[in-house]
Amino acid sequence: GKKRVIMSAEDVDLAIQRISLQVLERNHAVERLAIVGIHTCGVYVAERIHAFIEKQMKKEVLFGTLDINLYRDDWSLVSQNPVVKTTDLPFDVDNITLVLVDDVIFTGRTIRAAMDAIMDYGRPTSVQLVSLVDRGGRELPIQPDFNGLKTSVLADERIKVLLDQGPSGGRVVIES
Ligand code: 5GP
Ligand code: MG
Repeated sequence: GKKRVIMSAEDVDLAIQRISLQVLERNHAVERLAIVGIHTCGVYVAERIHAFIEKQMKKEVLFGTLDINLYRDDWSLVSQNPVVKTTDLPFDVDNITLVLVDDVIFTGRTIRAAMDAIMDYGRPTSVQLVSLVDRGGRELPIQPDFNGLKTSVLADERIKVLLDQGPSGGRVVIES
């Protein structure tokens, strides 16, 4: 099919820097801050944001991950019911400011499942949401607090987020 680049490596880097600065601005005074990435690609985005913020804050910023059922990565099945498979939250969730990070937000069902899983662990002071790409199509009243790029995607198109582990670069492509 056809490919169209919607975020270059520079766009990705700048979006991550901007989001990190916005998260910092909102949370610079909080006692305990955690960045939590949602499985594969959300974790890569979360790692970069975490590294940036920790460097700026000059104090420990906590880090965790959530693994949602793998079929959520299949774009044709994204409206199924997501289930959290494994959680790695190596800190006390009570009274924490927790920033959830995913690569793409669509229906909002993944984030709802992620919030359910987090609430099983305790009561955070606040939960905020970062997405690198908001593709619209929400089925629940869930919106990102911080977003990289908002784009409308046709039903027969899918977004490919090509982010490897590492400090910079990557690409976001629409395939039709
Ligand atoms: P939602 O649960 O909001 O419908 O979908 C969000 C989850 O599905 C995210 O974890 C995201 O990785 C994945 N997802 C949904 N749509 C797309 C898409 O177009 N491209 C990619 N790469 N992932 C998507
Ligand atoms: Mg995903």
